[in-house]
Amino acid sequence: MTNSNEPIYVTKPVLPPLEEFLPYLQQIWDSKILTNGGPFHQQLEQALCDYLGVKHISLFTNGTIGLVTALQALRINGEVITTPYSFAATAHSLLWNGIKPVFVDIDPDTLNLDPARIEAAITPSTTAILAVHVYGHPCDVDAIQKIADNYNLKVIYDAAHAFGVQYHSGSVLNHGDLSVLSFHATKVFNTFEGGAIVSPDAKTKLRIDHLKNFGFVDEVTVVAPGINGKMSEFNAALGMLQLKGIDHALQQRKIIDARYRQAFAGVEGIRCFSAVNEDVANFAYFPILVQPGYMQSRDELYHKLREHNVIARRYFYPLISDFPMYRTLPSAAHTNLPVAKRVAEQVICLPIYPDLTFSLVDFIVSLIAR
Ligand SMILES: *Cc1c(COP(=O)(O)O)cnc(C)c1O
Repeated sequence: MTNSNEPIYVTKPVLPPLEEFLPYLQQIWDSKILTNGGPFHQQLEQALCDYLGVKHISLFTNGTIGLVTALQALRINGEVITTPYSFAATAHSLLWNGIKPVFVDIDPDTLNLDPARIEAAITPSTTAILAVHVYGHPCDVDAIQKIADNYNLKVIYDAAHAFGVQYHSGSVLNHGDLSVLSFHATKVFNTFEGGAIVSPDAKTKLRIDHLKNFGFVDEVTVVAPGINGKMSEFNAALGMLQLKGIDHALQQRKIIDARYRQAFAGVEGIRCFSAVNEDVANFAYFPILVQPGYMQSRDELYHKLREHNVIARRYFYPLISDFPMYRTLPSAAHTNLPVAKRVAEQVICLPIYPDLTFSLVDFIVSLIAR
């Protein structure tokens, strides 16, 4: 095995052939409709509802504005229970709404918010639970909903990783009050930048559509201090084209996932995460935990991979709760988050993307499984 000449990144965006996008651009140039809920925007909302198996979708300029708007739409305030083991945007969306995050530890098997620890964190100020389907693996949605019902809390899922995931014989996006997707370049389905909120009913979608357009209901009526969260026609048109390739991309990911999994089966100290709960997984990430028994520390392995041009990522390290704007919160204490702390110190996400070749997968494996 030789070193890779080109860096192998943790992901590589899927792009359609450029010439296939040109007719879409031509339509935009002809119509001069660039944004504000134009024809591609409407088409993509419908196409995503059909593909994902959900009732209502509102497209957004990105997932983070989607999260901020979802919290606004449900009028969430006070304290919200959330996970420290996610991307920064999850908790940042709370701070942008003046909401206090309350961090709760994660389940060691799913790496998602541990429902068994939620109740102890509820106070009279708690209004919602903001959970994340980390790596596209579904949260324990039933346990979370039960707690939410008992305490009259809203549930929002950061589903940035969960595009196309099916659970309990339906889309995982149909759980909770709202789910938020990201179509960022690094995600399974990308529109360069983009995102969406999945709503259970037309009334909620309408409210979200007002909020993402400055609060305008019509030319002269503004009902809320909304934001500009609209997806442009360029991104929506690209989304229409990207949808055509998504099944193939997911199939490729599945094959790569299986090859890694098999290769690491007998390697002491390397733990993989199977698609435990889902009926249909999306293989968005390939996290491993470097545990005691492995011949090197996580960081030694991470740097060794980099020396060989394999740019794996320590997702999620550091924990959100260790960032300066959160670390003084009582719930950010490491004694409150022992599982998340340990996992953050052990995790590496390995490269996985649809055209990653078997020979590169085997090269990466050879660096780890020697
Ligand atoms: C990518 C991501 C986001 C943010 O989405 P953007 O579209 O980049 O704004 C939010 N949460 C999680 C867990 C993510 O991975």
